[in-house]
Amino acid sequence: MVKMEHVNKYFGTHHVLKDINLHVKFKERLVIMGPSGSGKSTLIRCINFLEKPSSGKIFVNGVEITANKIQLNKVRQKIGMVFQHFNLYPHKTALENVMLAPILVEKRDRNEVEKSAIALLEKVGLKDVYNKYPSQLSGGQQQRVAIARALNMKPDLLLFDEPTSALDPEMIQEVLDIMVALAKEGMTMIVVTHEMGFAKQAADRIVFMDDGQIIETGTPDQIFNNPQHERTQAFLEKLN
Ligand code: ADP
Ligand code: MG
Repeated sequence: MVKMEHVNKYFGTHHVLKDINLHVKFKERLVIMGPSGSGKSTLIRCINFLEKPSSGKIFVNGVEITANKIQLNKVRQKIGMVFQHFNLYPHKTALENVMLAPILVEKRDRNEVEKSAIALLEKVGLKDVYNKYPSQLSGGQQQRVAIARALNMKPDLLLFDEPTSALDPEMIQEVLDIMVALAKEGMTMIVVTHEMGFAKQAADRIVFMDDGQIIETGTPDQIFNNPQHERTQAFLEKLN
């Protein structure tokens, strides 16, 4: 589903991703952890080309997105992204937010898109707030709208960048519950998060990043109960 080969990223002279090699299989759930500034956001933003790698190759679903002249929009349509700060359109209702891209970008039929949008809003537990604007919703509700919006593009792959870290503590679980449900349905997911509970429940594999490098990879059991690298150990001690 995703293959990164020798990916490097510089911002000016700042070397932010250092020779990243990563494979994510179809239906795999990968969690990325690591300290602030270690390059987690830059790594997942490279996967949908929100950031352009300075060197190296990235393949998504068999297509090399780092090749010249590829149809980036076609590839991106199949990659859903959920951000820390929701990024909903403030002047559109919840329903309109979920309907917009499939109609504008994919030119799908409006009635079909509306039906699937309503079904997805129900699925994320927002049956009663279709017609509210983002400012009228709680953070947890907004993030659930953002997940429904990503799903309405029928993605092959979902990317999450710290989806719960801007939420009040009492709203974190309602968002994690939806993510766990998606994981159980077999969605391929790459999730940057420090939520150990989610990682234990849903991740097949965790990669730990530090200073632009993947320094350790393992199952949740290996990473949490027997971390090999001292920087992984130090980070996990602070989380507990
Ligand atoms: P993380 O998500 O792990 O906190 P980021 O990928 O956001 O880390 O950032 C990694 C490093 O790259 C940080 O030092 C950050 O300041 C820098 N960085 C991120 N985005 C940019 C940018 N657009 N321009 C310049 N530097 C950036
Ligand atoms: Mg980040």
